[in-house]
Amino acid sequence: MIVEKKYNRIQKTFGLLPREPLSKHTSFKVGGPADLLGLPSNRQTLAALLSTAKKENIPVTIMGGGTNLLVSDKGIRGLVIILRELKSFPWIEENNLDENAKEEKKIICADAGERLSTVCRFAMDQGLAGLEFAAGIPGTLGGAIMMNAGTASWEISQVIGSVDLIDTNSLTYHTIKREALAFSYRNLDLKDKIIVGASLTLTQTDPEIIKKIFYQSLKNKKSSQPVSLASAGCFFKNPSPHIPAGKLIENAGLKGMQINDARVSDIHANFIVNTCNARCEDILALKRLVQKTVFEKYQIKLETEVRVTGE
Ligand SMILES: Cc1cc2nc3c(=O)[nH]c(=O)nc-3n(C[C@H](O)[C@H](O)[C@H](O)COP(=O)(O)OP(=O)(O)OC[C@H]3O[C@@H](n4cnc5c(N)ncnc54)[C@H](O)[C@@H]3O)c2cc1C
Repeated sequence: MIVEKKYNRIQKTFGLLPREPLSKHTSFKVGGPADLLGLPSNRQTLAALLSTAKKENIPVTIMGGGTNLLVSDKGIRGLVIILRELKSFPWIEENNLDENAKEEKKIICADAGERLSTVCRFAMDQGLAGLEFAAGIPGTLGGAIMMNAGTASWEISQVIGSVDLIDTNSLTYHTIKREALAFSYRNLDLKDKIIVGASLTLTQTDPEIIKKIFYQSLKNKKSSQPVSLASAGCFFKNPSPHIPAGKLIENAGLKGMQINDARVSDIHANFIVNTCNARCEDILALKRLVQKTVFEKYQIKLETEVRVTGE
């Protein structure tokens, strides 16, 4: 009853959505309800929402585009904040950072909720190189930074200049430079902080060269990954740069393996796809089967790249 009262209060104050199915907000199209869902469109509202949730002792979960998440069938208790509305079109901040540098660098800034694809295309239109390898990676800029999104030969940490954050304990905003950020393979170690924006340092280049790489990367992705099916991208981390998880899974004979509507993709074995009405439990059962089979065959334990969250 007390819980209901405080949930009603915060819901009314911020116009939050009650019992919102998270399957509507994840690329896997899987996930039960969030008790409350907020989509703040500016930093002030985000800070106010966090402050109220803190005062009321309501747990908070952050989502960007929901393209790397597997949400449990019971959903997420407390408040889910989706940051995809926290955006304004990217802009260029500064020219010629280092006058002695051989190449001309420019800084692009964008809010965390901006789609990564929008930032990529903006950079391309400006003749700024460094993001073209991200062609086809869905989700938000903030999510891409938290995941250190990338490909076999590139990751977003290479072009990050700084990130703007809100500290969820002190509720104050900070800017942290690239050198002080702990990036690793598909991860940024950033406890109790939410990314609200970032600057990216890019190199002035012939726009035709950037376009060529961008469209080639996009073409490669579309021909080698099940991009039109519901998934969260590569499900497992590569055990090492030379051992792709997809190859291990394929060689273990698991392509096409299916548990209810969760299936190991026939196109790329490191993608688990939701063919129709898969539940989180189906995907997790398939995950365990893949891990067990690969371990029995190669004595390698596959770790998930997709983040599992919820009750
Ligand atoms: C078809 C497909 C292809 C993909 N291809 C690639 C690929 O080539 N390379 C690759 O690296 N990934 C790929 N992915 C995975 C995914 O798109 C990336 O990891 C993406 O960068 C996640 O961004 P998001 O906004 O969707 O984050 P979400 O999935 O919403 O969140 C991911 C994590 O980041 C946290 N988070 C999100 N935003 C913030 C924020 N602003 N502040 C603090 N924490 C935050 C969340 O709490 C969560 O822990 C692919 C996914 C799909 C569906």
